[in-house]
Amino acid sequence: MLTVIVPAYNEEAAIPLCARRVAEVLDREAIPFELLFVDDGSRDGTWRAISALCTESRRIRGLRFSRNFGKEAAMFAGLEKAAGDCCAVMDCDMQHPPEKLPEMYRLWEQGVQVVEGVKEDRGTETPLHRFAARRFYGILSGATGFDLQDASDFKLLDRQVVDALNAMPERSVFFRALSHWVGFRRAAVSYRVEERSAGQSKWSAGALVSYALRNIASFSAAPMQVVTWVGAFFLLFSVILGIQTLVRLLTGNAAEGFTTVILVQLFSASLVLLSLGIIGFYIARIYEELKGRPRYIIAEERNASAAKDSAS
Ligand code: UDP
Ligand code: MG
Repeated sequence: MLTVIVPAYNEEAAIPLCARRVAEVLDREAIPFELLFVDDGSRDGTWRAISALCTESRRIRGLRFSRNFGKEAAMFAGLEKAAGDCCAVMDCDMQHPPEKLPEMYRLWEQGVQVVEGVKEDRGTETPLHRFAARRFYGILSGATGFDLQDASDFKLLDRQVVDALNAMPERSVFFRALSHWVGFRRAAVSYRVEERSAGQSKWSAGALVSYALRNIASFSAAPMQVVTWVGAFFLLFSVILGIQTLVRLLTGNAAEGFTTVILVQLFSASLVLLSLGIIGFYIARIYEELKGRPRYIIAEERNASAAKDSAS
């Protein structure tokens, strides 16, 4: 059985469309499935829509978080609760076309353990968004050694991979990179990013920036090494400047250079503060991990037992 995991945050209108299209596609190909919606603390009628579908069909399951914990947490909650022999993760807004699921499923049947959806293009993103995304994935690919440039959260994973992901202890998870990190036999399926079926994107610019910084920090300590290199460069610079100053003192023309002093002061002070900021950011991440709070809290569950019946 295939578990289709769909994180949903304020997707009231998209849920019924999503359920219908997934069922249509998979029934046509006679692929047994369960559809697991994870309501990430929505404030609209998302949970009502999910509950209604759950009473109609036992193949549809629902999880509701006690508040908004973010898409990463929603995807991991889905993976933990999934009963399938393989799990697909896709967006609720149909930007990940369900028509690709059979193709991914067939690859899984042939023994592929991680089937990745790769974006053919980035859809209708603004040039600024596109540029920022390129930079972010560039840095992340460099830090992790995996090519994540066209990666997405649209993936189909074998049970073994799902179990490996579920065994990860860290609180701050990044699905896209972790599913690379675990390895296993992989294949890619390319897809076109469609227009959103309903509603609007849930990501503000600020949320995307903080998402990028957190994920870089959770996969790489390189920014802290940068601090060391800048420090080394400054040491060299200060030796040169120190020698110059001494020579001037000894030759008797030392009083000039006030502007230089001010500039060096300002520049080095800002660098020190910036470095402290970077280190503080990592300490904050360590602190978060150390507290060991759960990634999410489940408030309600629908058709939880349906899965156990069909799994046994
Ligand atoms: N999403 C979520 N929690 C959040 C934000 C988004 O579960 O805090 C879900 C959302 O409902 C959708 C998917 O993540 O199913 C992708 O979100 P969206 O379409 O807004 O992102 P975009 O396609 O613009 O990257
Ligand atoms: Mg979307």
